[in-house]
Amino acid sequence: MADYRKMWSDLGMDLEKHDLLCQALPEAFGAVYMSQENRPEGMDFFNFVVSEIHGVRPVELIEHQKNGGKVFGTFCVYVPDEIIFAAGGIATGLCGGSQFWVGGGEKVLPANTCPLIKASVGARLDGTCPFFKIADMYIGETTCDGKKKAWEILNQEVPVYVMDIPQMKREKDLLAWEDEIRALLEIVEKFTGHKVTLEALAEKIKVLNEKRQALARLYNARKHSPVPISGKDALLVTQIAFYDDPVRFAAQTNKLCAELEQRIAAGEGVFPADTPRILITGTPMAIPNWKLHHILETSGAVVVVEELCTGTRYFENLVDESGKTLDEQIKALAARYMKTNCACFTPNTGRIDDLLRLVKEYKVDGVIDCSLQFCGLYSTEGYLVQQALNKAGVPNIHLETDYSEQDMEQLRTRVQAFLEILKQ
Ligand code: SF4
Ligand code: SF4
Repeated sequence: MADYRKMWSDLGMDLEKHDLLCQALPEAFGAVYMSQENRPEGMDFFNFVVSEIHGVRPVELIEHQKNGGKVFGTFCVYVPDEIIFAAGGIATGLCGGSQFWVGGGEKVLPANTCPLIKASVGARLDGTCPFFKIADMYIGETTCDGKKKAWEILNQEVPVYVMDIPQMKREKDLLAWEDEIRALLEIVEKFTGHKVTLEALAEKIKVLNEKRQALARLYNARKHSPVPISGKDALLVTQIAFYDDPVRFAAQTNKLCAELEQRIAAGEGVFPADTPRILITGTPMAIPNWKLHHILETSGAVVVVEELCTGTRYFENLVDESGKTLDEQIKALAARYMKTNCACFTPNTGRIDDLLRLVKEYKVDGVIDCSLQFCGLYSTEGYLVQQALNKAGVPNIHLETDYSEQDMEQLRTRVQAFLEILKQ
């Protein structure tokens, strides 16, 4: 990695602590990623992004700020990035996926908080992530209790604007959600000093739809057998989608897809055609959480699809581009984002429908429903997920884990036992 120490120091980061992370990440990435065989060449760009993860993109964000632009940190796939980009801002995902940050979060949060929240709070409080330092404003949401309270703590450090996400999907909830998007638009306009115009919003809706389409193309490639890309690589691409420049990201992902399509045409894959095909559902896997994929793909299975926020929930459903007024565009945004099926909604039957559909589309042999520890929403919904999958005759297991390596062997044992069942 190039030398970014001055930038990190100017951001007020804890350089000594951050050095430890910089030492650990390449090793972890090497062990998980570079050990794979027959990786597509198109992954080179994404490898580069990881190797410069705290450098290249932060430099671009700071450049944007020097030119008078604002950077907004987001934590949930319900936040409509289109509004932020249309106001001349940049949206960047901030969810923490590393055990390295959990300790920092534990200093202020109860032990029984999910690791995603702990890591996100820890990354900011410990000053060990440039993205958390750079963002001028965080956009939180009312999706789960842990997050709601975490915003109040983070707000002591950086302005946090909280979007009120409905918890049900009735007509009146959709109207309330439209109002929330209008309120976000006003806040973002005020903060950036730029009006969101019809033309700007139309352009950004198109840009972000193109990013979604690139991801959909990647996932379509994974429907084939033998699968042309590993689940680990596909997960990495999706994780990078959250903070890379959307236009560049779409171009690089399309380039990768063209290569995958050639592989499909030639009947080439990264795993033998009879490798058990796994769908992972549950809580998001923020970068650098590659734990379960790594265990599966080093135990004789391949992950072909993720019904996760770092998966299909992120890119399925496009925003209608035909809006002729700002109000129509806002309604189109509200309609698209409301189609996402998170366990914070009750009921959340759409997620079950999605799962059953994805099982068929991706020719899935077994489903792993994996929740982060202390995520009451997803763990509880796990009962309904299991019931529906059992009824449809789809083999499945529920796992609970965190970001640590302590349960690696225990998880591996459970995964291997599950794969044995699939082979029968
Ligand atoms: S799991 Fe729910 S709360 Fe978390 S990012 Fe996804 S939609 Fe947002
Ligand atoms: S994983 Fe669960 S507890 Fe953690 S932030 Fe997401 S919804 Fe909240």
